[in-house]
Amino acid sequence: MDQKKIGSFIAARRKDKAMTQSQLAEKLGITDKAISKWETGKSMPDLSLFNPLCKLLHITLNELLLGEFISDKDLKEKSNQVLYDVVKNWLGKDQWTIKTDTHNPTVLKLRNIRKVYETESTSTVAVKDVSFEITKGSFVGIMGASGSGKTTLLNMIATIDSATSGQIEIDGQNIMDLSENDLATFRREHLGFVFQEYNLIDTLTIYENIALALTMKQIPKESVKQKIIDWAERLDISDILNKFPYEISGGQRQRCACVRAIITSPSLILADEPTGALDSHSARQLLETFVMFSQKYSATILMVTHDALSACYCDRILFMQDGEFKVALERGHENKQEFFTRILDTLVKITGGSRYVS
Ligand code: ADP
Ligand code: MG
Repeated sequence: MDQKKIGSFIAARRKDKAMTQSQLAEKLGITDKAISKWETGKSMPDLSLFNPLCKLLHITLNELLLGEFISDKDLKEKSNQVLYDVVKNWLGKDQWTIKTDTHNPTVLKLRNIRKVYETESTSTVAVKDVSFEITKGSFVGIMGASGSGKTTLLNMIATIDSATSGQIEIDGQNIMDLSENDLATFRREHLGFVFQEYNLIDTLTIYENIALALTMKQIPKESVKQKIIDWAERLDISDILNKFPYEISGGQRQRCACVRAIITSPSLILADEPTGALDSHSARQLLETFVMFSQKYSATILMVTHDALSACYCDRILFMQDGEFKVALERGHENKQEFFTRILDTLVKITGGSRYVS
């Protein structure tokens, strides 16, 4: 965003409307000085004043943010540019470092996975012959509109639900070969979960919730304590360890869920819409935590999301539509902003995009 350009544009539009700075200030209920600061590019109007200001100056929000008139012909391109700028602010400075090791072992392998839900009268093919692989240390996103089969797919990988046909291998183990009992152990030992609803146990403190994941793995008591203290510090939840889930915020609960998911060093962390119930600040914090998990601790993460702002933190995105994979995007050397715009373009191409961008 070019603050100076926006300022001159505001000044020009104000003069067009034959208003003095004082008159405009009065209409907006602010001081003359604020207007003068905007017009000289020293500051930007407060977010809450965007709409009333646009109305008074007879311009659109995109025009205000761009600092120029936008003709119908340029609408798409120019609006994208504004969106790009706004997103850039939302995403902040890109700290991305590129992973160079491409010879990581495969953690997850799916071959022709199919899921059919049968009821008395109908059968729904929720997932149609999906195949893909994920290597250690990668952060992969699955995107798709509601009903496209994302949760069904994730639940099969999570061993919560079974596939109708096909093969799922986690750490070289074909999970279809395991008995119910073995599956429960396998889940505990190899998988970590972060869901939208946090899934923390209300009657246990945060410390106990996290400890539970470790005691299930039969780790000695002394090392449990030290592990929890270390991870709590890394995720900034040290001072809420003795609280109960209902006493802390959604963002904090989700960070606890993250600690619980990673503390057992699982082969694969599965996350279904983990940012769904969070405000944008907490969402960003969670996504940065996932990036940190994958980059620093080589954690492998598979995240389902319908939100492009979340997806652009991933290394790779698989797009699902009607139970099938349509496109895969690799982030490669792009930064988050560039990847974000490519994700949006892809969504527009495969669906018209409207269902994704709210
Ligand atoms: P998403 O997570 O992408 O929104 P889902 O995996 O929940 O999609 O659903 C995919 C399709 O499978 C939808 O058509 C849904 O109605 C159907 N479906 C999901 N769960 C069941 C179920 N338990 N029984 C019957 N149909 C189901
Ligand atoms: Mg779902």
